[in-house]
Amino acid sequence: MVSYQSAKDEIKRVADIVDLIGQSVKLKKAGRNYVGLCPFHAEKDPSFTVNPERQTFHCYGCKKGGDVFSFWMEYHGSTFPEALRDLAERYQITISEGFSASAEKEKSDKREALFKINEAAAGYFQEVLNHPNKGKPGRDYLNRRSLSEDTIAEFRLGYAPDEWDGLIKALRRNKIDLELAAEAGVVIPKKSGEYYDRFRGRIMFPIFDLRMQVVGFGGRVLDDSLPKYINTPETGIFHKGEFLYGLHSARKAIREKNRAIIVEGYMDCLAVKRHGLEEVVATLGTALTDRHVRKLKGYSKEALVVFDSDAAGKAAVLKSLPIFSNEGQAAKAVVLPDGHDPDSFVTKYGSRRFSELLDQALPMLDFYLDQKLTGGDSDEDKVRSLTDLLPILLEIRSFALRSLYVQRVAEMTGIREQVILFELQKHRKSSSGNRHRGITVPSKVKHRDSDDNHFLNLIIHYPHVLAEIASLEWKVLLSDPLVIEIVDAFFEIYNQETPFSAENLLQNLNSETARQQLREALLLPPFHSGQEAEMAVTDFREQIHQKEISKAIKGLRKQGKIEPETLNRLLKLKARMSVGS
Ligand SMILES: [Zn+2]
Repeated sequence: MVSYQSAKDEIKRVADIVDLIGQSVKLKKAGRNYVGLCPFHAEKDPSFTVNPERQTFHCYGCKKGGDVFSFWMEYHGSTFPEALRDLAERYQITISEGFSASAEKEKSDKREALFKINEAAAGYFQEVLNHPNKGKPGRDYLNRRSLSEDTIAEFRLGYAPDEWDGLIKALRRNKIDLELAAEAGVVIPKKSGEYYDRFRGRIMFPIFDLRMQVVGFGGRVLDDSLPKYINTPETGIFHKGEFLYGLHSARKAIREKNRAIIVEGYMDCLAVKRHGLEEVVATLGTALTDRHVRKLKGYSKEALVVFDSDAAGKAAVLKSLPIFSNEGQAAKAVVLPDGHDPDSFVTKYGSRRFSELLDQALPMLDFYLDQKLTGGDSDEDKVRSLTDLLPILLEIRSFALRSLYVQRVAEMTGIREQVILFELQKHRKSSSGNRHRGITVPSKVKHRDSDDNHFLNLIIHYPHVLAEIASLEWKVLLSDPLVIEIVDAFFEIYNQETPFSAENLLQNLNSETARQQLREALLLPPFHSGQEAEMAVTDFREQIHQKEISKAIKGLRKQGKIEPETLNRLLKLKARMSVGS
């Protein structure tokens, strides 16, 4: 038995941060540190760093960092007292005293109370399921769906009787405050001040967090009535877009098989698992979110998403594409034959056929284009699929990845790359402002540190300015050899008097890296309005002159050839120019 303070010290002494974080984030050794993909923000390249010597972590992307406690709190969305309790339990340290009263303690107590209510409700639903009369409809249903006793026990499935106050009576017997029960989402207040059960006549699926605590419920009807599923609403401990059903039980298998199978429904998840594919989780009947993917990406190389064959399923593939890309998680998609969901398919055809289907899964983008383009080969179809894709492509934050996708779309549709880039720019302009916060456009203020990109952007959007710059030594302004190569290509076309097009330019570049850079540059909107562009040209011209003058002065000084009079004239000229600019 140790005090609260010494428990904290003791945990810090025995817990190894690399080991602890390594259980939820894939870490790789890099010098003295370990790095991995950050579980707290979207990223493709690891900037999440764990330092074993100092026992700390830090993310260079989102700036989150700290010790084992900070990690635990952030990862599990828990308070400090909860983190202390969890970690003490994990490292078998018994704490003797409680915490002093504080806001933190209050919050922690509240969450504790909500967990307790969910636990009581889960117990009640299980009890009802086992009741000879009351539980019969539920048991019959689960038998029909061929769920084994083991699965029912492991996932603590239950049954909510078709009554208005079944749970309420049970909660009263346990002396649970109904106002709090309403906050936990299991009962609903009436205008009269009374309460009634939220879940009635439904199979109950408790949703667990990674610590096996019940955070909420999904309830399914026994027939085809609607709504088929209802979930606990958002509460202090339940956030729908965050939890994956079955993750607590699938984690180990996901790590071992290095892949995660994602399905939509509770029953799908249990059916797939029952057929021996243990690495399966379900979104709670909702669309996949970035937080879902962040929870998963630490465990495996790839995610396999199984969608229903209906239109909603296909739309979901498209929506999840940028989420996976932005999180740096490789993802493939599988669509089931018409009329099937994972449950019905695996039940009818068995796990071998299902596994075969998974093996044929296509990378998300290919899958989507495949679907879109096999639907019809007409040009209208292609244009329509491009229109659908534009907002999706704009959601992808990495320019490199986006330009790669543009290339692929061009190959698969036969629509020229240049046209796609043009359409992307048009689409961005028409939807700029609110939707695509993820894409950063270099601001004018920042351009000083990237004169190269600034210059490139100017000539891409206002190629006529080449005429004004052609006679100048523009190269003195640029430092990036790739940009110089690209600008050279511009001038080549300019000198040949052929029309500018992305295609022409790309053809005129020798290196793939330059082509890549140009593609990225082509995706950026203009940094200047037309009027500003004129000013920018003047600005560039003056900068070039200044650089030339400086160079001339330096050269003359070196040779000792400069006369004081000439030097003065040059310096004055230079000073006047900087005032003017
Ligand atoms: Zn981060």
